[in-house]
Amino acid sequence: MTTTKKASLTVRILIAMALGIFVGLSLQYLLTDIPDYPLPLGLNPVNIKAFLIDGVFHAGGQIFINSLQMLVVPLVFVSLVCGTSSLTDIRTLGRIGSKTILLYILTTALAISIAIGMALLLKPGAGINLPLQQSFSPSLPPSTVQVFINMFPSNPIAAMAQGEMLQIIVFAVLFGLSIALADSAGERMRQLFADLNVIVMKLVNIVMQLSPYGVFFLMAKQFTSLELENLGNLGWYLGLVLFVLVLHAFVVYGTLLAVLGRLNPLTFFTKMKETALFAFSTSSSNATIASNLATVTQKLGVDNKVASFSIPLGATINMDGTAIMQGVATVFIAQVYNIELGLSSYLMVILTATLASIGTAGVPGVGMVMLAMVLTSVGLPVEGIALIIGIDRLLDMTRTAVNICGDAMVSCLVARSEHCLDLQVFNNADAGKTA
Ligand code: ASP
Repeated sequence: MTTTKKASLTVRILIAMALGIFVGLSLQYLLTDIPDYPLPLGLNPVNIKAFLIDGVFHAGGQIFINSLQMLVVPLVFVSLVCGTSSLTDIRTLGRIGSKTILLYILTTALAISIAIGMALLLKPGAGINLPLQQSFSPSLPPSTVQVFINMFPSNPIAAMAQGEMLQIIVFAVLFGLSIALADSAGERMRQLFADLNVIVMKLVNIVMQLSPYGVFFLMAKQFTSLELENLGNLGWYLGLVLFVLVLHAFVVYGTLLAVLGRLNPLTFFTKMKETALFAFSTSSSNATIASNLATVTQKLGVDNKVASFSIPLGATINMDGTAIMQGVATVFIAQVYNIELGLSSYLMVILTATLASIGTAGVPGVGMVMLAMVLTSVGLPVEGIALIIGIDRLLDMTRTAVNICGDAMVSCLVARSEHCLDLQVFNNADAGKTA
């Protein structure tokens, strides 16, 4: 019975999403095209907006996002402690860690390089000429050293209270390792965390069941305010970012899975559908951690040892989709302002964008903040962001889906190389659907 129920969750999310988009766009149209005769029941755009959009839709969407975020800290802490406490050899952790981080950095650098290459080739900003504004005052990017210092929590409780993902990861790994080293006391603790993990996963599954409603509210709210009239000049930019996102997700990830992991990319993408929809509707890698962790462990067969580390870490440091937007946006803005960038500037863009994604949490719109750092690093006007921000939400949704697929893909590759991937689960179409 549960199999059919779970199978329909993706469909229910999809229906909710389509319905939300339809309702949102219809309301946007209705609220701008007001008839000049009075509407029945005293309805007018102001009270429709206040009650429906800023009231019901906003509250419904926010409750959903809060519920997802509620899961993040307990889930990451408990599952990571579980994962590391079961490691018998500290070198395994070192290997898993370095492979994961290396793959994250390489795929992000590749993503932005493809994006810059395609943008230079297809020139999305050509023909839109804007004079350089005088009020350009660059803000200094935070130093890389500070980002590394910030990874180490001085107070783990404060880190959890503030949702500082990297700090939580560092503390959980150390705590888990201490459990592994603590003989019989460690054994009792490991059992306790294993039980806690089962309970937290149940909580994740409960929240997932409510997701169609949350997705509907988020979409409806989002699409009432999506600025579609801005599309004109930005059509090329939008299309190019979407194209590179799709290319990177299906071609680059597909090839890496097939070649490095000897895994069927089709199976991977089919099983990622639900989580990708989550990412799309929430625009937040962080809020998608719970769903991604459930998918990767229960449907793709990745051992918790690898998944509990790579998924939350990826949500924070691995943002290929965001890097793609930044690559195209940088070239676009340079072209719009008629500024020539040399090879060294593009290398700088690759470096800054890759480093900027480390230490910036996966929340909606953070890519734009990082873009300001990237533009500043090569002396491009930060005001250029104003050109593209109007249509960014749509891209944010899509690139977040790519970001979390990248996390899951790397998790599968690392698990495969460490013999921590259960191929039977990976290849079983029904795996995880009963959980
Ligand atoms: N929303 C993205 C994420 O959470 C980050 C961004 O590109 O703004 O992964």
